[in-house]
Amino acid sequence: MTLPEGVSRRRVDDRERLATRGEPVYGEPTDGPWRLWDAGRSKLGAMLELGLDTGLTGGEGVLYLGAASGTTVSHVADFAGPTYAVEFAPRPARDLVDVAASRPNLFPLLKDARRPETYAHVVESNLDVLIQDVATRGQARVAARNRRFLAPDGRLLAAIKARSEDVTREPAAVFEDVLATLRDRYEILATARLDRYHDDHLAVVARPLA
Ligand code: SAM
Repeated sequence: MTLPEGVSRRRVDDRERLATRGEPVYGEPTDGPWRLWDAGRSKLGAMLELGLDTGLTGGEGVLYLGAASGTTVSHVADFAGPTYAVEFAPRPARDLVDVAASRPNLFPLLKDARRPETYAHVVESNLDVLIQDVATRGQARVAARNRRFLAPDGRLLAAIKARSEDVTREPAAVFEDVLATLRDRYEILATARLDRYHDDHLAVVARPLA
């Protein structure tokens, strides 16, 4: 699997680790201009570590839902083009604004991802990638509502957290239901369990249906 341009593997402490170039954000180790990308703290990092075919090449226009304090989206902005980062909790969103200070292509938005009409006037359309990590009930519906921002040949990269949907059910059953709802609006291209890095999470790669 080829990594997106701008993402590298660096050998640090006898281990190959993903890395991007940018200002450090969360106390991650650095190697010259490179900052290591901790897959244990990032579902997208875990997808890349596990060799999932994300279709990312570097330089893409990105809408990122569930940006929190910017751990993962900071790495994304290091290798992507314009990166719109939606987070609805004010406290992490404040940290996100600091992360964006050194990244002119990163645009933090204090918005609710369930209500895309509230940021449709700011976010470009025809984006290449929709990355979603909202860890909230109704994850498939959030992806469906935000499909409007994707180009016809764009990609959804979603991390689905089973416990956010239902803590009492088997994760595999929850994932089946989420995928069934996603199929109304997307063609599923690949899935992978992320448990090696993130318990009870499923990665989904999909493209929008016409
Ligand atoms: N993606 C982050 C990272 O890797 O650095 C971690 C995200 S954390 C698992 C989930 C985030 O989604 C939380 O910060 C939460 O506040 C946010 N979130 C949940 N529901 C949301 C919604 N409807 N709109 C915007 N943000 C939401």
